[in-house]
Amino acid sequence: MEIADNTVVSFDYTLKDASGNVIDSSKGSDPLTYIHGGGALIPGLARALEGKSAGASFSVRVPADEAYGERDDELIEVVPRDRFDASLELAVGMQFEARDENERRIVTIIEIEGDAVTLDANHPLAGAELHFDVTVKSVRAATPEELTHGHVHGPGGHHH
Ligand code: ZN
Repeated sequence: MEIADNTVVSFDYTLKDASGNVIDSSKGSDPLTYIHGGGALIPGLARALEGKSAGASFSVRVPADEAYGERDDELIEVVPRDRFDASLELAVGMQFEARDENERRIVTIIEIEGDAVTLDANHPLAGAELHFDVTVKSVRAATPEELTHGHVHGPGGHHH
């Protein structure tokens, strides 16, 4: 079976930056499992997987605009120190998960000057060209229930 919309795909991957440094890998843990066509993956990787079958191994270079997008300076914001819990020891590089009604974002402290804390809500990989080494482990049709729920059931997915 080939990867197409509404198939459940499991794959192993190693993600590297443009210099070949490993950023993330599924090695040592379970393969990543997702429903193809549902927007779960960055567009460049989803397109590279399209039409592949179990056993396929390939490498793909994904430019920033097909990955996590270009950096947006409007997502950088300076907030007063007292916006944070006083017991929190703030440091440059510290990351938080910020939630608003629509989405979750990783926010990184990029500067602290006196009482002013500069936050960057760009995705940590925004602006980065990504390199994936991928091995497709399995491809199957999604069940109607999985499509209704919008997530995978069973191994690599929800158990309920
Ligand atoms: Zn479900």
